[in-house]
Amino acid sequence: MPPDSAPPPDTAAAPGRVVAWLQPAAPPKPPVGAPCNGCGLCCLAEPCPVGMLLSRRRQGACVALRWQADAQRYACGLLIDPGGVTGLRAAWAQRTVVRLARRWIAAGTGCDADLEAAPGTPGGQPPHGQP
Ligand code: SF4
Ligand code: SF4
Repeated sequence: MPPDSAPPPDTAAAPGRVVAWLQPAAPPKPPVGAPCNGCGLCCLAEPCPVGMLLSRRRQGACVALRWQADAQRYACGLLIDPGGVTGLRAAWAQRTVVRLARRWIAAGTGCDADLEAAPGTPGGQPPHGQP
């Protein structure tokens, strides 16, 4: 964004805060150490290291994040949509991505995101492409 243009009001964030667009049906963030419930807050606020490579940014929603409407939760696309995230078509390559991603993102180790969610003002639209 050019330095002389103010961010739109619905995406402005105070220093140390990030505006995240959550699906209304997403579960609330559990305490640190509790099992991950797919609230998506961590990946919407800031990509993990592999997510930074995929997203080419250090803040904001990760491009690999996927919303699972049937399960009403977010999930890492490297695990549930490896072909869509990476563009790899071969089944063996997609399986390899899933296997590596489990290690890269420490899947199943519980919530390690020390974030606090504060509801914002309803309205506006999520950035293009965000789940
Ligand atoms: S790790 Fe925590 S913040 Fe991230 S999706 Fe899971 S429960 Fe939500
Ligand atoms: S866990 Fe997956 S969706 Fe979340 S930031 Fe990392 S790569 Fe992106």
